[in-house]
Amino acid sequence: MVRTEDDSWDITESVGATALGVAWSRAQEATSECPLFTDPYAQMFVDAAVERGWQLPPAYVVERIRSIGGYAASRTKFFDEFFIAAGANGIEQAVILAAGLDARAWRLPWVNRSVVYEIDQPKVLAFKADTLRAKNAEPATKYVRVPVDLRQDWPAALRDAGFDPSEPVAWAAEGLLPYLPAEGQDLLFERIHGLSAGGSRIAVESFGAGFFDEEYLASRREQLRQLREENGAGDDKDAFDVEHLWYIEDRTDVAEWLGDRGWEVTSVEAMDLMNRYGRCGSEDAENVAPRTVFVEAHRVCYSALS
Ligand code: SAM
Repeated sequence: MVRTEDDSWDITESVGATALGVAWSRAQEATSECPLFTDPYAQMFVDAAVERGWQLPPAYVVERIRSIGGYAASRTKFFDEFFIAAGANGIEQAVILAAGLDARAWRLPWVNRSVVYEIDQPKVLAFKADTLRAKNAEPATKYVRVPVDLRQDWPAALRDAGFDPSEPVAWAAEGLLPYLPAEGQDLLFERIHGLSAGGSRIAVESFGAGFFDEEYLASRREQLRQLREENGAGDDKDAFDVEHLWYIEDRTDVAEWLGDRGWEVTSVEAMDLMNRYGRCGSEDAENVAPRTVFVEAHRVCYSALS
């Protein structure tokens, strides 16, 4: 589980398995009392991974994912609405960074001529393609896989795949940033900015100082420890924790960075987003709403690309 500069993974390994965790959570949403969205593909991915020998995470991890289900559902809804609004405003290119098992290209009502590019590690996108092909699932619009690591020269791969930087684009970075080193995050946004024509939009789940605050992380670890205990998994200090896959480093504030470069930015904290969708009822809300901020920005300047 130790991260390295050039590590790679399949869907059931390391960072790849986090995409399965998210898919599992999306599949659960369908059976909730009042689902915020439906994603019939999520369960297909989980089943296909289980067929490959993947085991559902231990009960305490499942319990943790379940406890933040309202957050995960609100996050999915936020990005769904972002893409629908971008299409309604005439943006015909979408790039989903670290797409994992995101099925938006299959399940959203894309406007005519939209192209959805998905970037993720090659084995992750291959698993996704194999699973959907086996189910004869057809994308709802033109779909282009861009199998490349986001620490490599992905802009070249994206252009080679047909992306047109002179046209506006809608970018999404959901569930990605903690898996990139702080410097990698900076480079990612430099590149996005360089590829964004006027009129482009971006939506980001951002993880700032509040998220990486040592006290906050310690309280999160304590919650996991309690869950392990309650689920009879003992007090194993080496037990799985997704935190081991993150780069816990000081990071550039995404909203500020975009604002400084002429993007018009709006931000909403996780708790407020969950309130918006009626998913924040629990007394334990502090513990089930990670300290993330959802950033949406529009590039309003129509000058030449910088
Ligand atoms: N965005 C998807 C979603 O919300 O369902 C997946 C989120 S999952 C938590 C993290 C994803 O980031 C995985 O699919 C993983 O392969 C991808 N990822 C992380 N680091 C990456 C990198 N350096 N290059 C390409 N993909 C990466």
